Amino acid sequence: MNRNEQLFERAQRSIPGGVNSPVRAFRSVGGTPPFIARAQGALLWDEDGRRYIDLVGSWGPMIIGHAHPAVIKAVQTAAARGLSFGAPTEAEVEFAERIVSLMPSIEQLRLVSSGTEAAMSAIRLARGATGRDRIIKFEGCYHGHADGLLVKAGSGALTLGHPSSAGVPADVARHTMVLDYNDCQQLHDAFRLHGSQIAGVIVEPVAGNMNLVRGSGEFLRTLRELCTRHGALLVFDEVMSGFRVALGGAQQLTGISADITVLGKVIGGGMPLAAFGARRDVMRHISPLGPVYQAGTLSGNPIAVACGLATLELIVQPGFYEALAGRTRLLTEGLVQAARARRISFSADAVGSMFGLYFSDKAPTSYRDVMQCDRDRFNRFFHAMLARGVYLAPSAFEAGFVSSEHDEALIAQILGAAAEAFDALG
Ligand SMILES: *Cc1c(COP(=O)(O)O)cnc(C)c1O
Repeated sequence: MNRNEQLFERAQRSIPGGVNSPVRAFRSVGGTPPFIARAQGALLWDEDGRRYIDLVGSWGPMIIGHAHPAVIKAVQTAAARGLSFGAPTEAEVEFAERIVSLMPSIEQLRLVSSGTEAAMSAIRLARGATGRDRIIKFEGCYHGHADGLLVKAGSGALTLGHPSSAGVPADVARHTMVLDYNDCQQLHDAFRLHGSQIAGVIVEPVAGNMNLVRGSGEFLRTLRELCTRHGALLVFDEVMSGFRVALGGAQQLTGISADITVLGKVIGGGMPLAAFGARRDVMRHISPLGPVYQAGTLSGNPIAVACGLATLELIVQPGFYEALAGRTRLLTEGLVQAARARRISFSADAVGSMFGLYFSDKAPTSYRDVMQCDRDRFNRFFHAMLARGVYLAPSAFEAGFVSSEHDEALIAQILGAAAEAFDALG
């Protein structure tokens, strides 16, 4: 047994499944997850000393790569001044001002420690601000693991939602309607039937938790119009797409503004930091200004904020996103070419530095499409890549991420590994 295998066995004795977040356990692809010892730039090293080119980036945050010297220095400086005060700091204000200046739909925001907390609080805010209970979400979108968001469609899309996890009361799930992503007709029907009861709609404008699926312009415009017409709040969950697909997130790319925006991942640069923000007239409902309760002992933690600020400092540099998107296209186009040369049914898509790989002839537009992709082929491709030192997300239902540390030489190495991996598929 190598050290990874020993650690995985040991981990399973004291931690359920050996992991602190389920996808890390490799259940979908099988095998033993590498235990990571350290990371630098675009590279990871596991406990057996194996090197990997990282295309997961901690599931999104590591847009400038791992252990960037400027970020590490900011974190060390902040840590030396004390780890947590439970009191306001100047850095939090600076951080909030930065986000406000970069995202036009946000006039005020509240910092929290995880995307789950931020999405949960955004839903409570939408309900508190509208005085309504019902929310809409879409199949295949993930918004963290709060009760009301772990819901699947009932017998039909326009019926009451059902819990998608044990432990979620049916009474909670029934307030969530689950519709098909990119389906405008269902949206019209849902608002026609229930418009006056809908507090808000939460959506990933670029979905990244069912592999990568783009929200169509028509879909997002329809959402915007229906929410406005019926007095519901449109919540864009940009935990993944924010500061990833563009500096101003999906809202910049699509030109469509949300009422409430949920942020996480990149804004914390790898530390536990997330946020939700909106116009002032919406945010005034949050305590202590208004009656919607929300709080957190470690919210706005000084180390996390220092890490986020140092990360933002680097990504606002001119040309940063263009270069990153170019490198990502190089990767996806190279993969498609390699697969095509071998007559493998494969496609790829990218929005900014977020990408999707699909063992199917074309990019999916819904959860149903994603389910049609060849999962067995993905799993074999995944292991062939891992064996060649390329670390992809261990599931066919996750997006991948390129960082500014993935230079052309590393992209070429990935494409070389992929050519061999495609050959190995047979
Ligand atoms: C990752 C993610 C979340 C949850 O964030 P956590 O920090 O893992 O709680 C919520 N929404 C989206 C779109 C995400 O990608």
